[in-house]
Amino acid sequence: MQVMHSQELAVALQATRLAAKLCQHVQKSVTTEALEKRDKSPVTIADFGSQAIIALALREAFPGIPLIAEEDSAALREDSNPHLRTRVVEEVARTLDRPDLGAEEVLGWIDHGGASEYSELFWTLDPIDGTKGFLRGEQYAIALALVREGEPICATLGCPNLPNSDGSAGAIFSAAEGTTTSHLVDGGSEAVRVSGEQSLAVSRFCESVESAHSDHSQSKAIAHLLGIAGKPVRMDSQAKYAAVARGDAEMYLRLPTRPGYVERIWDHAAGYAVLKGAGGTITDVDGKQLDFRHGRGLEKNRGVVASNGLHHAELIDAIAKTS
Ligand code: AMP
Ligand code: MG
Repeated sequence: MQVMHSQELAVALQATRLAAKLCQHVQKSVTTEALEKRDKSPVTIADFGSQAIIALALREAFPGIPLIAEEDSAALREDSNPHLRTRVVEEVARTLDRPDLGAEEVLGWIDHGGASEYSELFWTLDPIDGTKGFLRGEQYAIALALVREGEPICATLGCPNLPNSDGSAGAIFSAAEGTTTSHLVDGGSEAVRVSGEQSLAVSRFCESVESAHSDHSQSKAIAHLLGIAGKPVRMDSQAKYAAVARGDAEMYLRLPTRPGYVERIWDHAAGYAVLKGAGGTITDVDGKQLDFRHGRGLEKNRGVVASNGLHHAELIDAIAKTS
């Protein structure tokens, strides 16, 4: 079978691999001392570096397709930030093996991600999703998706720290035309499918580590109502979508903590495509389709519910009853 979007996927995969390499190199430099001082500069450097590398690859291969990305170069251009700028350029130059790279070039690549309006075909990127997880040395993701007519149809989700069943860590998930594949660091790859677990009692659900991003007390009430016995698996980033996609969990709940918060498209587009391709179901907390046709935000949705699809309607019902 010929897979459409094979060129898009190949470029996205290669760029995500390079970005993951940069992120892992920077993450190694996070010291306990920096953590204690709550120094966020490592994640800032990796965030900009990751965006520069992916934006460059997309701009070269698909110059006509806009990119809606989380970051722009404004903060790096400020005179008060010469150190950050230098470090970003150093990391990008090292990763691309281009020692003579200049700052202007790198800042220009970052700003290729400056689109913000909806169009029929666009890329969206979160260069590091789960910044807190990155700083903790835990889960984070590099999330890139191609959205056509409001639907993420092709994506890569790099999860450099995700533990695999063979004891290794790190996987990149790719999705296109309704199929999801995981690629391990050793080069092996396999098809990814959701869990077929029928029983709610043994179902596992994941949620954010950060209680500001998802209501932990409501998820506890939902689990109680549905008779789910286990504790929630808490992790940062869209690694949660990957966990449901490959059957490590049956559901992912993202329950609004305050009225008016609009989810960002780059926090969901890649995870959506990866889970869809693995056979999962994704809606908002009201059971509505996620609508990626409103620029940078999921303006028409509230929260997110992602699952293996077997008990989705019951989940939506339980959310309504506990709201
Ligand atoms: P997670 O790692 O799943 O907790 O999600 C990280 C993402 O949460 C970040 O990329 C932010 O864009 C997003 N975020 C920030 N504030 C909120 C909020 N109040 N509710 C939901 N998500 C948020
Ligand atoms: Mg994010």
